Amino acid sequence: MNASAGASASAVHGPLQDAQAQLAEAVEHLKCPPGLHEMLAMPRRELMVAVPLRRDDGSTAVYSGYRVQHNFSRGPAKGGLRFSTAVDLDEVRALAMWMTWKCALVDVPYGGAKGGVAIEPRDHSIGELERVTRRYTSEILPIIGPGTDVPAPDIGTDEQTMAWIMDTFSVAKGHTVPGVVTGKPIALGGSLGRASATSRGVAHVALMAMASRGLEPTTASAAVQGFGKVGRGAARLLAESGVTVRAISDVDGAIFAPDGIDITRLGAHVDREGTVVGFDGAQPLDPADLLTLDIDVLVPAAIEGVITEANAPHVRASIVVEGANGPTTQAADAILTDRGVLVVPDILANAGGVIVSYFEWVQSNQAYQWRESEVNERLEEKMTAAWHDVVDYAGAHGLTYRQAATSLAVRRVLEAHDLRGLYP
Ligand code: NAD
Repeated sequence: MNASAGASASAVHGPLQDAQAQLAEAVEHLKCPPGLHEMLAMPRRELMVAVPLRRDDGSTAVYSGYRVQHNFSRGPAKGGLRFSTAVDLDEVRALAMWMTWKCALVDVPYGGAKGGVAIEPRDHSIGELERVTRRYTSEILPIIGPGTDVPAPDIGTDEQTMAWIMDTFSVAKGHTVPGVVTGKPIALGGSLGRASATSRGVAHVALMAMASRGLEPTTASAAVQGFGKVGRGAARLLAESGVTVRAISDVDGAIFAPDGIDITRLGAHVDREGTVVGFDGAQPLDPADLLTLDIDVLVPAAIEGVITEANAPHVRASIVVEGANGPTTQAADAILTDRGVLVVPDILANAGGVIVSYFEWVQSNQAYQWRESEVNERLEEKMTAAWHDVVDYAGAHGLTYRQAATSLAVRRVLEAHDLRGLYP
């Protein structure tokens, strides 16, 4: 196990530097003592593992795997598992820290964690992905569990990945442990409503943000970057609310239709072709142009660091709703704020996933399934409450929504830490 000091800044600017800068702002606002700042800046536990894979052709490949647990003050660690070649330790550290704030902000009883394997899932067969997942799980097995750390899907992973993790963990324990992951298939104790929860939350806060700016859904337009688990549902739900979704992109390219994209037809095209590119209901678009289109709402729902110092001055949307984690760099955030763009921060905008993950964990641990309407109703309740907490706090203290959200979250984590005390 790597007991590295953790959050040391590397020379290259990336998500960890953004996460650390956001924490520093919150800590300054809260007048938090330097020792506590240092404690929050450093992950509690980090594990780096080699993940050897026997490939279908009989050769062996080895991938780097990570699990970082940032904080446990409010409960077991919780966070997604990412399969992407962009994964490295610093990215996982940043994502784990954001999970701590997200869980605290929406008041679910978890700390934050994140995991990743530096692998391109599209280059592997289903059998290879199963072997990688099972081997990674067995390597991190000592530090995960329903009361310790609960993985969930993220970029490049899905409910099948969660089923393999759950099975590998259960075989090792000698009995079935559904609560070790969330985002698993319904047939294995997954929650109704979990698959669409992140998107539902994104769409819900987007509509609240639009209302706060006097925008009517039926006359508003949007662009969505990413057409995966988050972007696809967000685009569909926004379109169902009457918003004209003009542009959508994925890793292969982007498409544009001035009168709106038919999301259901696009979904069928993507299920067939694996990409939005080539959809006959829209024209091709340079993916970089999606971020600066003349639309009302921009939903980055793919990866980190896409709204930068270079393109932020040209963003024409009046509202940015961060479906992805960390899509806006710290420098870009300042530019958007100066230009009066309302940025709904990731830890609020995409928290629907962890809220329903929490509901799933409760259901798994109690072996009792809730109705989908019950799940969606409670999700909306929690998202609405968090939205108002952030808006009120930002208004009362003259902060941006990101500063308010992070400060509220850090304050809650510190309160829990204070009540528990520092051991020994
Ligand atoms: P996913 O793998 O299901 O989808 C990712 C999408 O982004 C794909 O359509 C992919 O083609 C696209 N993409 C990748 N690189 C791109 C690029 N450079 N330009 C445009 N598109 C690109 O992943 P996901 O679960 O939808 O996650 C997306 C983001 O949302 C991530 O930041 C993730 O951490 C965050 N998030 C996910 C959840 C969840 O429940 N899945 C919850 C909270 C936050």
